Amino acid sequence: NTFSEIDLGEAVNLNIRRCKYVKPTPIQRHAIPISLAGRDLMACAQTGSGKTAAFCFPIISGIMKGQFVQRPRGSRTAYPLALILSPTRELSCQIHEEARKFSYQTGVKVVVAYGGAPINQQLRELERGVDILVATPGRLVDLLERARISLQMVRYLALDEADRMLDMGFEPQIRRIVEQMDMPPQGVRQTMLFSATFPKEIQRLASDFLSNYIFLAV
Ligand code: AMP
Repeated sequence: NTFSEIDLGEAVNLNIRRCKYVKPTPIQRHAIPISLAGRDLMACAQTGSGKTAAFCFPIISGIMKGQFVQRPRGSRTAYPLALILSPTRELSCQIHEEARKFSYQTGVKVVVAYGGAPINQQLRELERGVDILVATPGRLVDLLERARISLQMVRYLALDEADRMLDMGFEPQIRRIVEQMDMPPQGVRQTMLFSATFPKEIQRLASDFLSNYIFLAV
């Protein structure tokens, strides 16, 4: 019932204490061990449940512990190891801010890219390197078309507020994005899908993107 009982590593645990999180929320208590065990996950989670930390902690911890093939250097293409998709600029910025706190002094670099804002600043940021990319689907497709992002190395994929992304009409973009990340060289991709509701379309997305997944409703 404490974070230190979950094997997230010393650096992440230190950041959890810095954030003054004393004990895991129900979604965190259940989702984090499932994710650390390498399983895919579909979770029912509302805003305020602590879902951001539930997917960020295992991603950051996994990147710190993991061994990844060398990413190409010196090219203008960025190769994130983790991708977090979210429906809006506001939510993406919120996730980015939290993920940065959680990854403080870990060497794990988090970058955000969203639409409705000039792309140049985001491009410069990406050029300096990225481990975890937080993005809205439309802007990410743009970056993929410009070949400024490659999803070949993505080992962790999190879809946040998936029902809202579908409501906003992002399904074609999401499918294009996920199609580009089949078969990462470092082994299988691990996927986490978070949604407040589970209509047919979300279930279809889950069966297309997740493999042998655990369903979690808290
Ligand atoms: P979220 O549902 O991810 O938007 O998180 C809702 C709020 O709860 C955010 O302000 C988090 O910083 C906070 N929070 C998340 N997990 C915990 C925790 N284990 N203990 C205390 N606060 C938390």
